Amino acid sequence: MNNYKIVLLSGDGIGPEISNVSKKLLSKLSEKYKFNFELKEELFGGIAYEQKGSPAPQETLESCKSSDAVLLACVGDIKYDSLSRDLRPETGLLKLRSELNLFANIRPVKIRRSLLNASSLRKEIIENVDLIVVRELTGGIYFGEPRGIVNISGEKKGFNTMTYSASEIKRITDVAIKITKKRNNKICSVDKANVLEVSQLWRETVEEIMKNHPDIEFSNMYVDNAAMQLIRDPSQFDVIVTNNLFGDILSDLAAMLSGSIGMLPSASLSNDGPGVFEPVHGSAPDIAGKDIANPIAMALSTAMMLRIGLNEPNAADNIELAIDNVLSKGFRTSDLIDKDAQILSCTEMGEKIIQEI
Ligand code: NAD
Repeated sequence: MNNYKIVLLSGDGIGPEISNVSKKLLSKLSEKYKFNFELKEELFGGIAYEQKGSPAPQETLESCKSSDAVLLACVGDIKYDSLSRDLRPETGLLKLRSELNLFANIRPVKIRRSLLNASSLRKEIIENVDLIVVRELTGGIYFGEPRGIVNISGEKKGFNTMTYSASEIKRITDVAIKITKKRNNKICSVDKANVLEVSQLWRETVEEIMKNHPDIEFSNMYVDNAAMQLIRDPSQFDVIVTNNLFGDILSDLAAMLSGSIGMLPSASLSNDGPGVFEPVHGSAPDIAGKDIANPIAMALSTAMMLRIGLNEPNAADNIELAIDNVLSKGFRTSDLIDKDAQILSCTEMGEKIIQEI
């Protein structure tokens, strides 16, 4: 029987509420699909800062490094915004990504048929949407140096640096190629090559690589146009590959196609070590502690962990099917707009999904 070491980082805000659902799901699935798992819960984010003085304590990072996969809920709260940058929960996230070398962030956006009415876009625009955003995660403007805020002649000036090497661009393009070959053989690379030199290098490098893959339908698109096209005709996309900043923004935009950010999972992967599987959404401090959060993005992240990180595809399929069944019976959490639906709490939605396993 396979035995997996999973680290769970529940983090802040709604994190513990949605993590509870995933814990129960894993227990039920391990019985059904005959695998063992050891779940180690570690402090991470604002809670880790409060208890250990660091948003990413060394022991948490060590546990993550020696695991088979990391399941992360979410971190952050407005109350930490006044802390110095190195102590903020979001810095803990960047540290985790960089320590585990998680250079590739995979964000699938698939419209669940029963949620066609939950999107703010018309049904006919979104019904065929099935795309993946492949976002570079350890480079670009979030990590580039120099950065800072300086005082020049009595006026404050803030600056950041967007930088990519050709090898960083190549390795994320290779991930996008690998993914699209299992799908529809279509890649759109998103940049801002008309204005930024770093994007010119991005475009040249991707184009050079794509010459070796004539079977893939390849296109380039400027990021402003990509934002517009994602709203105008999102089903034109299969795999979008882009840098850290553009991927951050476009994947949240794409999230709304599905009706709620509470529906979207993601995986962050390296070339060898454990991946981190987490919802796209943040810690939703506005609804934390009210038991009304949507646990589905976290449950779908658990499915991605089982599929990609632990090679348990049947258990992963089972989570997805269970969610589809619950939604098609008309059950929703309050973030999913549907006038005929029965609204459930986070705990109740978790129970319904588990009943379908
Ligand atoms: P957010 O994603 O937390 O919330 C945006 C809106 O979506 C809120 O109205 C929230 O209630 C709602 N929402 C989010 N997840 C939901 C869910 N599962 N169910 C129902 N509604 C949900 O983004 P924000 O408000 O910009 O950020 C809040 C905090 O989260 C900040 O501190 C931010 O830095 C942090 N953050 C963390 C991550 C992460 O942990 N990966 C990602 C983004 C933001």
